[in-house]
Parts: sequence; C-alpha cells; structure tokens
Amino acid sequence: MTKTKQNIMLTPGPTPLPPEVLAALSRPILHHRTEAFGEMFQFVLDAMQRAYMTKNRVLMASASGTGAMESAVVNLLSPGDEALVYSTGAFGDRFAAILKAYGLSPVVISEEWGHAAKAEKISDALKRHPKTKVVFLQHTDTSTGVLNDIKDLAAAVHANSQAVIVVDAVSSLAAEEFRMDEWGVDVTLTASQKGLMNAPGLAFAAISERAWTLVQSARLPKFYFDWKTYDRSLKARETPYTPAVAMVAAQAEALKLIEKIGLEGMWKRTAELADYTRTWARKNGLAIFAKDPAHILTGVRLPEGVDGSAMLAEILREEGISIADGQLSLKGKIVRIAHMGYISRADLDAGFVALEKRLAEVQAA
Ligand code: PMP
Repeated sequence: MTKTKQNIMLTPGPTPLPPEVLAALSRPILHHRTEAFGEMFQFVLDAMQRAYMTKNRVLMASASGTGAMESAVVNLLSPGDEALVYSTGAFGDRFAAILKAYGLSPVVISEEWGHAAKAEKISDALKRHPKTKVVFLQHTDTSTGVLNDIKDLAAAVHANSQAVIVVDAVSSLAAEEFRMDEWGVDVTLTASQKGLMNAPGLAFAAISERAWTLVQSARLPKFYFDWKTYDRSLKARETPYTPAVAMVAAQAEALKLIEKIGLEGMWKRTAELADYTRTWARKNGLAIFAKDPAHILTGVRLPEGVDGSAMLAEILREEGISIADGQLSLKGKIVRIAHMGYISRADLDAGFVALEKRLAEVQAA
C-alpha cells in the first residue's frame, strides 16, 4: 500500500471529518428496525429541518447527491410535463441530463460559467413557457464556485408562475446562508459529504406541501426513490430499505457539532475561510474564476501555460494534499479550493504552500 505523508483534503466533497464523526463511523452497527436506530434517525431528520431552516418534511435515502437530484425529478413530474432548468455550471447541466434520461424535454437557460443566474431571465422564460411545472436551480455550483441568489430567483418564479422550485444545495447546506421557508423554496436537496461534515452516502430532500401535491400525481417511473414510500416509513422512524446505518450515526454526531457552533456560526466560518483564500490568491497574482463567488469554494485561475492537472497530481503524490481540478472545459486551467465543513485554516495553509512552491518552479523554468 502506498502511504501519503499526510491526508489533507481541500476538495469540495468528500471533505475531512471531525474526530467525533469518525468515531461514530466505527461504532458497532445497529439494526435499523430498533428503538435505538429510530431515535437516532429522528434526531437526524429534526436537525436537518433546522439546518434547512424549514418546517417541511425531510426525507433521507442512502445515495449520493445525484440520487437526491434524480428523486426530485421522478417524484415531481409526469411524461410530457414542462420543466425549466437554469444552469450555472456542471451540476445545473446534470439536472437537464436527468430530465432527458426520463424522456422529458426541459427548457434550459444558462449563464457563462462563473456568472450567477439572473432573475429577469427566469421571468422571461416563465412568460414564454407558462405551463412550467418545476424550476430547477442550484444554490452553489461546485464546478465554478458560483453563488446564485436563491431568494431573488425564487421571488421571480413566484411572481411569474405557480411552478414548484427545486434547489440543489448539495454543496452549500450548513456552509453558506440558506433559508428554505423564508426564501419560498419548495424542495431542497443535499448530501452528507460536504457542509454536513459526514462521509459520502446520505441524500436528503426537504419537501413543501405545495410540492407534495405534485408528488401525489407525478407519473414518471420510480421505485427506490419513490418519496411516498419513504414518507410512509417516517411514522415508524424508519426508512423503507436498509439505510447506511453507520452513516446515520455519523450524521447525528456531525449535526450535533453544527448545532453547537450554530448555523450562522458555520456560515461565518466558511465566509472567513473564503476571504482568507481570496486574499491569498490576490497576493499571489491569481484571479478568482467566479464573477459571483460563493463562500464554499474558490476557483482560482492558473497562469497561462501551467498544467494544473499535473500540478495537482504531483501535490497529492508528494504531499498527500487533495485539491480539486477544474471540471470539463476548466480542467487543468483552474484549481478549486474548498472551505466548507471541517476544512481548517491550517489545511488551507498547507495547500497554499504546496501551490506556491509548484507555481514558483513553473515561473523559474
Ligand atoms: N450538486 C452539486 C452542487 C454538487 O457539488 C455535487 C457534488 N459535487 C452534486 C450535485 C452531486 O453529488 P454527488 O457527487 O454526491 O452525486
């Protein structure tokens, strides 16, 4: 087995885990149809409601964030329905791909990568497509580090239609300000491995009553992700199928830590680390990729001629520090430095030193 010098993760999921969460992952496994599991599961659902800032029901499935995205598509829509996707990066495009995989033809509007979605564009699109049933948005698109103003976008949807609003908050929940009920969001999706400070493997959806009326009539095919089945199991404090029990235990510990710091404390922590990272980038003459940057992640442009992919591979191999490469057209051109969850200033410092060393070598060559 090859051994790295250290294991520092500056990646936007999975993220490093607090010791309490790691310890929970190694506790003896509970059977999932027991009082003890039910109590722990109920705590997770209640704490997730608080993290979402909602009074709506929260469902959990053992899946990654993409599973949560797919579950929203199949539970809200029927064949032939109109849906609108506003894409500001790779994960917005994923919503469109899922809709197409189920035979729908979504209207897709998009922004140049790095730019946030605009309320006027949503209003225009909804006027052109008045039968739109569901609008799909992303809070933070992790491919570019862009932040969308969900409060503003949701207001534009409500002002122009009856459409249900689905928000992908996979990389932002508990890390970046998000107020589901206050902002008028109907469905918010997230996953365990980012701001929620857990290992990957749990997917969550918070669902408003307005959205639930669509769930009752949605006819796209589904089985594992049928929300009605999960909802029926809630009374018994269970999931319909065997859940990732160890991860539920770990999620409970992570949510306790989040509640100790407080949601606003978590948002502030992310914002401070983002500020720290942007200051470092500017000091080193590196431009921030996103014009409307999120706090959860900073995409930093590399100087012309630097092969970012090779540089990051070397940093991981030689120093055990994981930093994310750009995705798709940005591969090798930007590095994505995350500051969500348990990532610390010391972790960032280690990453900065490693990057500075490689950039100095390139410049000297
Ligand atoms: N949406 C966003 C904004 C994400 O950052 C991610 C993961 N990077 C996903 C969706 C997909 O989640 P997963 O990889 O857990 O399926």
